[in-house]
Amino acid sequence: MTVLQNLSIAKLQEGYKNKDFSVREVVDFFIERIEKHDNKINSFTTTTFDQARKLANMADEKIAKDGPDIIAGNPLLGIPLAYKDIYSTKGVKTTASARVLENYVPSFSSTVVSRLEDAEAISLGKLNCDAWAHGSSGENSDFGPTKNPWNLEYVPGGSSSGSAAAVASEFIIAATASDTGGSIRLPSSFCGVSGIKPTYGRVSRYGVVAMASSLDSMGLIASSVEDLARILEITAGKDFKDATSWDIEVASYSKELNEQVKELRIGIPAEYFGKGLSGVVKEKVDDAIKKFEEQGAQIQEVSLPHSEYAIPAYYIIMASEVSSNLARYDGIRFGNGRDAFGEETKRRIMLGTFSLSSGYKDEYYNKAQEVRRLITKDFTDAFEKVDMLIAPVSPTPPFKLREKTEDPLQMYLSDILTVSVNLAGVPALSLPCGFTQDELPIGLQLIGPKFSELKLFRAGYEYQQLTDWHKRKPQL
Ligand code: GLN
Repeated sequence: MTVLQNLSIAKLQEGYKNKDFSVREVVDFFIERIEKHDNKINSFTTTTFDQARKLANMADEKIAKDGPDIIAGNPLLGIPLAYKDIYSTKGVKTTASARVLENYVPSFSSTVVSRLEDAEAISLGKLNCDAWAHGSSGENSDFGPTKNPWNLEYVPGGSSSGSAAAVASEFIIAATASDTGGSIRLPSSFCGVSGIKPTYGRVSRYGVVAMASSLDSMGLIASSVEDLARILEITAGKDFKDATSWDIEVASYSKELNEQVKELRIGIPAEYFGKGLSGVVKEKVDDAIKKFEEQGAQIQEVSLPHSEYAIPAYYIIMASEVSSNLARYDGIRFGNGRDAFGEETKRRIMLGTFSLSSGYKDEYYNKAQEVRRLITKDFTDAFEKVDMLIAPVSPTPPFKLREKTEDPLQMYLSDILTVSVNLAGVPALSLPCGFTQDELPIGLQLIGPKFSELKLFRAGYEYQQLTDWHKRKPQL
């Protein structure tokens, strides 16, 4: 069999068509890799290998019977994926990496999972994350932290820690993930992979364990913009089971990717390049800015003046919604009781209950909502001048395991460059843009106005044609 490395959806489909390998061979290859290496990484919470092998055999039979053209109508036929463990999967354990749900088996699937299954993707299992998606490092998982495949002493970023680590480790082609305050972009950037946080409401939240419902955005992590585009065009779009999903046409992202954005205007938000930004992160993002400039993009500085209030506003609104969403886990309907909640979850329930309680609501929750409005307006104003913004994802390169666990505030500050995007509900694309001297990945984000996913993909695709950061893989 040909060497299966640096795979992509297109390469797999090509291989299936040319009979270079069968779907079963590909699935066995990934399963073997996971069995060999995931004991070090801990990216999976549950594996569904038997089911995957069965689906692989069925896919091979279909290709044999109907010929390779069947791939055109089944865009993810034979493509191995996995789901962050907050996406409900019918008949397969869905734990949110939380002890409370350790034995919970849903009787239905989330809309995203159903759409991927309809496109004939093959799931290899469920991916570890911070419990209930609360965290920035993956260390809040009740089932042990995920490690960064580039260096096992470092965190992979969170909360979609398993999604990013598994893609970087080449255990799967792509993963579902979610971003409430940065949880797709931060792990993508720490693991050297690409991630899309779509516009709020672009993708259905139905059947995904809710964190903070006005901020949760269902996105994806993959090795390249091209693969993200191929999957987002399947998961995005109106869903009548989620009233906040928008009935706006979904572009054929992957087919329209190749067009250069003409006269692209990129804004550099001054507040994102100030105090606290590590030198090497700045240097790598500056290099990327130069690349865009060389391609003819017009670069100008812009301001998002309320950025400094984003972290306090986010941590009040998010915790308020968390305290309400987690009320249903009362030990009666979903497995274990409330004493099974971890430290960080309890902290958020308490913070949220406090900021919503009478006498404090105006001072905290309502005030935070006012700030949210101002932050949203900052973006609206900026997008009158430019098509998109470019910024680092994290103020620092990946940090070490346990470096920030003792100090929750330090951990919260990892999100300083990501949470505003969620407060404003706009999309952002995270791309690898370099490495530290110690071979740890660094990422940038392109942030656009609502429903500008196609534009972000085009710019990101062009960047990935000119660079090969996204092709680098860790040695396991
Ligand atoms: N790190 C942020 C938090 O802890 C974001 C989490 C997320 O996006 N799910 O809340």
